[in-house]
Amino acid sequence: MAKVVVVGGGWSGCAAALAAKKAGAEVVLLERTDMLLGTGLVGGIMRNNGRFTATEEMIAMGAGELFHVTDAAARHKNVEFPGHKHATLYDVAKVEPAVRKVLLDAGVEVHTRSRVKDVEMDGNRITAVITDNNEKFHGDVFVECTGTAGPQSNCTKYGNGCAMCIIRCPSYGGRVSIAAKAGVKEMMAKKADGTYGAMSGSCKLLKASLSPEIVDKLNSTGVAVIPVPKDVREDEYILTKKACQQYALKEFIENVVLLETGHAKLMAPYFPLDRLRKIPGFENARFEDPYAGDIGNSIRYMAMSPRDNYLKTLGVENLFCGGEKAGPLVGHTEAICTGTLAGANAVRYAAGVNLVEIPTDLAVGDAISYVNEQMKTEEGISKKYTFSGSVYFERMKRLGLYTTDIEEIKNRVRKAGMIDFFNRKVI
Ligand SMILES: Cc1cc2nc3c(=O)[nH]c(=O)nc-3n(C[C@H](O)[C@H](O)[C@H](O)COP(=O)(O)OP(=O)(O)OC[C@H]3O[C@@H](n4cnc5c(N)ncnc54)[C@H](O)[C@@H]3O)c2cc1C
Repeated sequence: MAKVVVVGGGWSGCAAALAAKKAGAEVVLLERTDMLLGTGLVGGIMRNNGRFTATEEMIAMGAGELFHVTDAAARHKNVEFPGHKHATLYDVAKVEPAVRKVLLDAGVEVHTRSRVKDVEMDGNRITAVITDNNEKFHGDVFVECTGTAGPQSNCTKYGNGCAMCIIRCPSYGGRVSIAAKAGVKEMMAKKADGTYGAMSGSCKLLKASLSPEIVDKLNSTGVAVIPVPKDVREDEYILTKKACQQYALKEFIENVVLLETGHAKLMAPYFPLDRLRKIPGFENARFEDPYAGDIGNSIRYMAMSPRDNYLKTLGVENLFCGGEKAGPLVGHTEAICTGTLAGANAVRYAAGVNLVEIPTDLAVGDAISYVNEQMKTEEGISKKYTFSGSVYFERMKRLGLYTTDIEEIKNRVRKAGMIDFFNRKVI
């Protein structure tokens, strides 16, 4: 039986492991920290704008499991906030154990606290990866889903700083690029202001530190949009620092936009506390995660691999990649899409079967191929792409790819010959 080793247990690694297992391989998933889901532990926003279409395409293609988990863990459905429609907000406290169960039930061998520190090569092929505790995992094919954040020093070097963010580099050690260890020259993204990396578009406030009115509104509707008095507003320059350009809208400067994911998710990369506390209802506000939400959070997009549309990493014979590693496609949905394809193609590679691209008639296939083209240009790599807004959502609308009509989406998937594709056994 073919053995697939997936490194990194964020949304993309979980999706890759599940897809590889369903295709018939023996699968090992290695995660550096004590929990799966990586940056997905602090996110929560699903199905907003074009993510709805991509989600339904994936369900029709037979890769619905992880989307069913986030739907089942939803605290709020069909939520609207500036620039965004029909969002689902999952409960960030409940989703990790649910995903872990799906993987274990499927038969994936999950190893947490297993940080890969090195690779063993035979010419151009990886033969094994080695963890911090010197365990060696051999495989026929490897999938790198290590994300693009960390180590911590990058957050201070390229960002405003970071303390104890969800990535937890000081406790578990930093990210290691498997592709770079195997000799691949990786790429760094730039912010819109030309500096390297990009911060997330959100951080979290302790709900207990907000006024009861704000908390009630959040709990009952999932959203609170609170106008920011003119004298306390941030300069629009802050928008250029966002990884999530779908939230780089002036409405996010004129208002504090909070979403309820079990926490109060503040839709800004950071917000100086002295200004925030001047806004009515925020007089006692306190950041929850990262503790340095006053000045910044995770710097990401520091190490993306060159790859093709099969999600095979260029330059190494038997390495695939998913999630942020596979380019500046931002988000949980996006990571699940690329991770799934990478996992399925890894098994096809090991079985000697032809690799598959998702047809560009589908939003998921078009995004994978479009971002691949964009990564090759200086301007393209300075942008971030997501089904949920900014340049890629505009492209979806222009190409007629965006729809919320589930029957129409199934028809498209059928026409593309991809119905239930990810449920087919390869081995
Ligand atoms: C604060 C914040 C809020 C966000 N909110 C949202 C949101 O609401 N909705 C949305 O769609 N997107 C959101 N995003 C973006 C989204 O989380 C990411 O784009 C996506 O989840 C990336 O997934 P990934 O699997 O590529 O990488 P990651 O989530 O970074 O996962 C990589 C994993 O690999 C592990 N790893 C790294 N190196 C090693 C190694 N050497 N050995 C073993 N394991 C290793 C890491 O510990 C980590 O678990 C948010 C991001 C942040 C930071």
